[in-house]
Amino acid sequence: MQVLILGGTTEASAIAAALTGDARMRPVLSLAGRTRAPVLPAIPARRGGFGGVEGLVAYLQAHGVAALIDATHPFAVRISRNAAAAAAIAKVPLVTVLRPQWAPCPGDRWAEVPDMPAAAQALGAEPRRVFLTVGQQELAPFGLAPWHRYLIRSVEPPDPALLPATARHIAARGPFREDEERRLLEQEGIEVMVTKNSGGAATAPKLAAARALGVQVVMVARPPPPPGETVPDAAGALAWLDHVAATWKRGV
Ligand code: NAP
Repeated sequence: MQVLILGGTTEASAIAAALTGDARMRPVLSLAGRTRAPVLPAIPARRGGFGGVEGLVAYLQAHGVAALIDATHPFAVRISRNAAAAAAIAKVPLVTVLRPQWAPCPGDRWAEVPDMPAAAQALGAEPRRVFLTVGQQELAPFGLAPWHRYLIRSVEPPDPALLPATARHIAARGPFREDEERRLLEQEGIEVMVTKNSGGAATAPKLAAARALGVQVVMVARPPPPPGETVPDAAGALAWLDHVAATWKRGV
């Protein structure tokens, strides 16, 4: 059975790894192509956009895809919206992997904001040392608050044109350990951290480190979830796939 996994997350990689050598399935992992040197699984992979809903429908039909797993990041709203629309048009079963959100624990100092411009505003008028862990694509609002000192961590270096003048970049790929996160926050004298509410274990240690050190966290809320069936993790997606495969075999 031909399976398309929309990826770019640890869950997508886990699904790909679990399907390696599964004789029932012909999985393909699709990546947007943002990361220059992605960690690739042993299953076939493709890179780059499909060309909107129309392009994705054409791909699903041309490759006889019988199951679509949207395991993209919770903040990757466009591809998820396209996946829902294309699956409906091509009549391909779709499941979305939506990992649980992070929730504040006792001792956390969170300021929850709706989007990135609000996050930049929440940093305030006084200069602060800020740790930005929001990826490299949404930095522009922080350029409007150049009085802060920014430390930016992302897998790929950001476009220098988007960087506030006072910003420094460190390239790193999770998972991260709490003791390392603590050391980084202490060494850099970080007063406030900005993050998206991505959820998941790989990057959660930064929140524990912030809690332990009393560092404030500006938490950008998630966009609304896509329509349709969701599962919280890779195991849920694999169980869903088993079910689809059983139905598909019977030709129902
Ligand atoms: P997005 O805004 O939802 O998507 C923009 C366009 O990129 C889509 O319309 C699609 O192009 C293409 N695209 C996105 N994901 C794709 C995939 N898995 N395979 C093929 N094409 C894809 O996405 P984004 O927020 O830029 O995220 C890009 C990738 O990075 C995703 O794979 C996501 O899982 C991963 N990621 C995102 C974040 C985040 O915070 N946004 C964090 C970690 C990882 P077409 O319309 O041409 O098909």
